[in-house]
Amino acid sequence: DSVSSPVEMFFFPFVGGGHQIPMIDMARMFAAHGAKSTIISTHKHALSFRESILRDQKSGHSIFITILSLPDDADLSDTDMSATPVTDTSMLEVPLKKLLLQRKPDCIVHDMFHRWAADAIDNLELDIPRIVFNGNGCFASCVRDNISKFKPHETVNSRYEPFVVPGLADRIELTRSQLPAFQFVADGMQKSKENCYGVVVNSFYELEPAYVEQFKKQNKAWIVGPVSLCNRNISDKAERGKKAAIDEQSILNWLDSKAPNSVLFISFGSAARLAQEQILEIAYGLQASNQPFIWVIRDVFKGERTDFFSRFEEKMKESKQGLIINGWAPQLLILEHGSVGGFMTHCGWNSTLEGVSCGVPMITWPISAEQFYNEKLVTDVLKIGVRVGTLDWLSWNMEPRASVGRDAVEAAVKRLLGGGEEGVEMRNKARLMGEMAKKAVEGGGSSYNNAVALIKELRDRRRIDDIKYAA
Ligand code: UDP
Repeated sequence: DSVSSPVEMFFFPFVGGGHQIPMIDMARMFAAHGAKSTIISTHKHALSFRESILRDQKSGHSIFITILSLPDDADLSDTDMSATPVTDTSMLEVPLKKLLLQRKPDCIVHDMFHRWAADAIDNLELDIPRIVFNGNGCFASCVRDNISKFKPHETVNSRYEPFVVPGLADRIELTRSQLPAFQFVADGMQKSKENCYGVVVNSFYELEPAYVEQFKKQNKAWIVGPVSLCNRNISDKAERGKKAAIDEQSILNWLDSKAPNSVLFISFGSAARLAQEQILEIAYGLQASNQPFIWVIRDVFKGERTDFFSRFEEKMKESKQGLIINGWAPQLLILEHGSVGGFMTHCGWNSTLEGVSCGVPMITWPISAEQFYNEKLVTDVLKIGVRVGTLDWLSWNMEPRASVGRDAVEAAVKRLLGGGEEGVEMRNKARLMGEMAKKAVEGGGSSYNNAVALIKELRDRRRIDDIKYAA
């Protein structure tokens, strides 16, 4: 009967990119807590996680995929989260509505970047609780909300003049150059949150307590992460939906040969592209630092690699100082390895949270979107990271030049991994955060309890509905 059957949650992730990964993990986590999770996707985008869901089903979890069919000839490209506006997914509106009319789930969790979904779902008047996933932590959301509300960026005269974000528990300074696509994201969030039932957040209370409290004053919210920790499946960790460009065992062997906490892992997420000049500066800086490293480079060279880079790759291989991965890397597996002692990251929220969960301090190098806020959380609030330099995001993708020189790269690597007191302190703090993250998702932990509470609330709602019908 409807009271005892499991609570059914629909998850409607964004198409590809860094937003899809955490929502799949979240669906998995709720299924592990006893809900029936259904992931709504397209044929093309489901290919990247289909196998992992099949594995979950085989181990007895109640998790499914429902495919929305696109109109003939229609194609939805993968999202490049660094581009604005992001992919328009509104061609999914008709099939989504049809699905919701056929099967009334207990809730639907949708990504804020399906900007049309709020109206589409609410206008159906089916009384299905609509829950928003915004892809960020509470700190970044509070920063964005307070900039929207108090407009401190309008009080400065240039793109590079710092302003303080009012109304936060910590003193946070930003510049206008660090607010790319601000209005677009703020409007999208605003639109999604109007009339929503609540917000689910991939974070954990102990990471940002002041900001969780602040966020919860404005939003009905469930803080349920880090969701990446809920997936114990090794193959999923390695792939994160894409086939890794290198077999995991050879990476693990390479890492095994290095001293504990000595290796720097360098990755700029799934979307960012670096100018060739910038890549060379990083290469020189890494080489000069003498620190072992794993560097994930995707198709940045657009064809020909320069002579310098080919020689560099060869040299790093011979000296065993560095391992270069051309393509998708098993990021979680690498970060979890005991030899990794630092993470040079673009501060995408997933990467930031994965670094935290694995107890790894960071070198921050934000490129776009809310990455600039996440950097502040890491360096100014948590104090588990050093920034490698300020840059103007506009120059990053478009101009063939380097914003951060080799000396700055070398200095940042030495500061974090060179054995100095500051680096050691950051590592100890990061390790503690990592332990707290794991506790949060274990039985009785804060995120665990929040996830259970959401399921219970949805079940109670259903019970009230049943009573209403019976009356
Ligand atoms: N990722 C990965 N291998 C790669 C690049 C990225 O597994 O080579 C994963 C990473 O672990 C994270 C996600 O892709 O879960 C990237 O999300 P994030 O929010 O950090 O950045 P975005 O890609 O959205 O800029």
